[in-house]
Amino acid sequence: MINIVIFGPPGAGKGTQSEKLLEKYSLVHISTGDLFRANIKGETKLGLRAKAFMDKGELVPDSVTIDMLRAKVEENPNAQGFIFDGFPRTTPQADALDTLLASLSTSISACLSLQVPDEELVARLLNRGKTSGRADDADETVIRNRLAVYMRETSPLKDFYKQQAKLKEIHGVGTVDEIFGRLCTAIDKHS
Ligand code: ADP
Repeated sequence: MINIVIFGPPGAGKGTQSEKLLEKYSLVHISTGDLFRANIKGETKLGLRAKAFMDKGELVPDSVTIDMLRAKVEENPNAQGFIFDGFPRTTPQADALDTLLASLSTSISACLSLQVPDEELVARLLNRGKTSGRADDADETVIRNRLAVYMRETSPLKDFYKQQAKLKEIHGVGTVDEIFGRLCTAIDKHS
């Protein structure tokens, strides 16, 4: 199995690149952001709970997020591998992911970390906000809060994966295809 964590701040291009990677490597793509948005659209209890946090640019609590992720992984017992997009975002989530994969006799192959300067991220998110219909992309204060939450709670996970010798830093500025090429090179070296 190849299990990839696609990592980076909001707006780094995780979703865009995941779509291309899942095709090339036949992986199941799990985006916690997409799962939350589907729940919001479906007006589920989980969606209602998540929305309050997402609209402010805060993280949804770990217990809710981890249970949702676990259920999604278990829905795909025949997967050849997974691409985790937007998860983990905290140390408890990273620990839970390792435990879950160990119970399936597998593990994370690599954490690919997309590096993009803050000002480029803000510009990309504001631009996406014009068409995405996402409340959290429309407001610069919310965007800046998401970046602050990323710096505080999520970026320390780079050390978590570095200690496991799984971190690959990828330059995240350029065309979609250029960045995709860099990601593929990193994956092919690792597997
Ligand atoms: P982006 O990475 O562009 O901010 P996402 O679609 O990945 O967008 O996530 C949108 C929002 O969903 C986050 O700001 C957060 O509120 C919530 N969310 C997504 N994944 C997680 C997670 N793993 N843990 C907690 N909250 C999450």
